[in-house]
Amino acid sequence: MRRRARSIRRETLEMILEASRDTYPMEFGAILRAEGGVVSEILLVPGTIGGESHAIFRLHMLPIDFSVVGTVHSHPGPNADPSQEDLEFFQRLGYVHIIVASPFVADSWRAWDRDGNPYELSVVD
Ligand SMILES: [Zn+2]
Repeated sequence: MRRRARSIRRETLEMILEASRDTYPMEFGAILRAEGGVVSEILLVPGTIGGESHAIFRLHMLPIDFSVVGTVHSHPGPNADPSQEDLEFFQRLGYVHIIVASPFVADSWRAWDRDGNPYELSVVD
């Protein structure tokens, strides 16, 4: 059993926030990868940027890769709670899902498990 990711690198989080700002008002979406229990990389899936709202992930384009732990996407509004569509999507891939909300600053993100419960993810340098 692989160790579950319990933290995210600050650098990776900053990259996510920046990409969310750049993509606004469109949604930004990417895959999260972890190494040694730390989310440390985002993987852009071709076709995810500038797609229709919440139709951003093309799962068939994902590589088969066990370092993939979940997903991240942005919401153009201030609400980082998962929508019903998000919850259905969460069930399909991984166990930790980050939602970044406007204004995309250090505390405007939340992590969720696949059932939509808060997921403890600490930020590490
Ligand atoms: Zn969403």
